Amino acid sequence: MNNIKTRDPAERPVLELTGVGQQMAAKLARLNVYTLQDVLFHLPSRYEDKTSVSKIGELSLGQATVIIGEIELAQVVFGRRRSLLVRVSDGTGSLTIRLFYFNRAQERSFNRGLWVRCFGEPRRGAKGLEMIHPQYRIFEQQPSGGFDKTLTPVYPTTEGVSQLLWRKITDQVLEKILPSVTELLDARCLPAELQESLQAASLQQALLQLHRPAAGVDLEVMHGASSAAHRRLIFEELLAHHFSLRKSKAARAGERALALQRNHNRERELKQSFGFKLTTAQQRVMREVAEDLAKPSPMLRLVQGDVGCGKTVVAALAMLQAVESKTQTVLMAPTELLAEQHYQTLRDWFEPMGIEVGWLASKTPATLKSDTLRKLADGDLMIAVGTHALIQPTVQYHQLGLVVIDEQHRFGVDQRLALRNKTGAEIVPHQMVMSATPIPRTLAMSFYADLDVSNIDELPPGRTPVETVVMPADSKREEVIERVRLACRQGRQVYWVCPLIDESEVLSAQAATDTEQLLTTALPELTVALVHGRMKPKDKEATMQAFRDAEIDLLVATTVIEVGVDVPNASLMIIENAERMGLAQLHQLRGRVGRGSEKSFCILLYQAPLGQHAKYRLQTLRETNDGFAIAEKDLAMRGAGELLGTRQTGSLGFKVADIIRDQHLLTSLDASALQIETLMPEIIDPLIERWIGNKEAYVNA
Ligand code: ADP
Ligand code: MG
Repeated sequence: MNNIKTRDPAERPVLELTGVGQQMAAKLARLNVYTLQDVLFHLPSRYEDKTSVSKIGELSLGQATVIIGEIELAQVVFGRRRSLLVRVSDGTGSLTIRLFYFNRAQERSFNRGLWVRCFGEPRRGAKGLEMIHPQYRIFEQQPSGGFDKTLTPVYPTTEGVSQLLWRKITDQVLEKILPSVTELLDARCLPAELQESLQAASLQQALLQLHRPAAGVDLEVMHGASSAAHRRLIFEELLAHHFSLRKSKAARAGERALALQRNHNRERELKQSFGFKLTTAQQRVMREVAEDLAKPSPMLRLVQGDVGCGKTVVAALAMLQAVESKTQTVLMAPTELLAEQHYQTLRDWFEPMGIEVGWLASKTPATLKSDTLRKLADGDLMIAVGTHALIQPTVQYHQLGLVVIDEQHRFGVDQRLALRNKTGAEIVPHQMVMSATPIPRTLAMSFYADLDVSNIDELPPGRTPVETVVMPADSKREEVIERVRLACRQGRQVYWVCPLIDESEVLSAQAATDTEQLLTTALPELTVALVHGRMKPKDKEATMQAFRDAEIDLLVATTVIEVGVDVPNASLMIIENAERMGLAQLHQLRGRVGRGSEKSFCILLYQAPLGQHAKYRLQTLRETNDGFAIAEKDLAMRGAGELLGTRQTGSLGFKVADIIRDQHLLTSLDASALQIETLMPEIIDPLIERWIGNKEAYVNA
């Protein structure tokens, strides 16, 4: 154990720790903990204060704490459930410990006159205060002090790895490894606002404080991550992630892709079938994409732009470039409905040019599927549209040049790895991802540092902004129904959207069905139809088709219509229970109207009373149609997880940082990263290894 300080903790396996054998090591690996350094950087997610003892007479409900009391009475009672009740008192008040699960030994141990120390959450019981299944210990004499000398860390963990084990192994690394952990950052690389506070906390102090916060440290400060120790670690972690993304971008530059050439004549042909002129923004983004595609290294570009800005057109032009260079291209959408719509659109555009468009979804009939698969493998089909089915391992491409992914936030970026060519596995397809949920700039910089980003920041001309009104459902329903009647009488079409209820498609479908019945009765002269997620795709599609063909006046739908569906004649949307939905989702839904030249309306119905957040959300929507502004507000309110899809929870799980809470640090990240690259590039790899790890090396060991 003497050479412990001289060997790099980043290279020493957890097996060296007392209490960790092969089995435990395998469990820790599930948490990406392989080395002693990984243990050190596996930080608590929260803390409990078991250091100080509260007087029973001064307890606050719901706040877990330690009390010490003398046992006055212990008895087993048979109520709805058998339980052991132990009444204890400390002179300021009394409290009952309630155990539902207990054995004979436990029952006998609570003797009158002995003392207990317990940690739990006081609640109001039938006969005064109670703690249910607290952590406890019995003493002969009145003990003094709480359970622990420091705040008790609670570690993120996995099945079979107890908090006790975490404490045992973190104790060991704190004692033996911490002194040898090297400080990588120095003051030259830190933004001015952080320098002072970060100098106050060295890396070692910071780690120690996060693993074992001293008694008396404010729990709120710890949970709010606002201490100097936190700032020290958060900034390091953000830097590590930033570098890691940049590195994967650099690695991509070393990969090979097919250089795709533009064919201006064919482009002109395609543009003719669009039937409109591209906006300036579309032209700019199209050029950015075209230039990337012409390079022999794979493109990875995010094309973002508000609903209705016309991303599909840009995708089609890129796909043409692939086809004209004799390579295949696919367009993948998150839902069958959306994929189907793209399929229609692309067929309308490409088939007149003599280019066949194929279809592949999970529910495609087997014979049709095998035919499509054969053509994709042989290179007889150059374009395919579909869902995830396109990237299943069974699908082989002859020569895949470009993959376009729509509504990228629903997929996560990792799926790009699933695509390989039949000929030449070492050739990587170009990839274009599209999103209507714009990522605010600060986030894009740090979160998509491995992507290039293009913005279509302009809507096609002739769109009139959607006017949004907010109304209480109960008192205004009649009035809203009248507006539906009027709109349809004028030849317009209407969406009536019912939200997801309790995360359940069954309940939601039921609610939508009820609404449809109600509206059919109230509006007998209209053709009313229903789509929801529980319907067969074929029926759903047929209904959508009928709506697009204006055979249906009023479409009652669940949020399945959220993305992409395009019916320019629809000019009124009613959204029920809008208070339950997030900003971005409401904005997406609203984007289904206002697609024609007619003035459109969106009525947000809510169930009173409105909470403060809901009120703010609905007000924001009423005031702005700007997707970027909405995304910024959404981010501030909700957190980045949903905005970024699987990105945060998947490949970018943070240990201490939280990109919402720590947004202010993101702005100085770039400058610091640049400093490091010029002054001390040698710390970049160790920094990445420390926070993100170099897992492969250990997985294969
Ligand atoms: P999104 O970016 O939300 O995916 P779409 O690509 O579905 O938007 O385009 C929305 C609608 O706008 C479609 O009907 C499309 O044909 C139309 N559109 C796209 N670009 C233009 C343009 N430059 N001028 C007029 N209409 C356009
Ligand atoms: Mg779209």
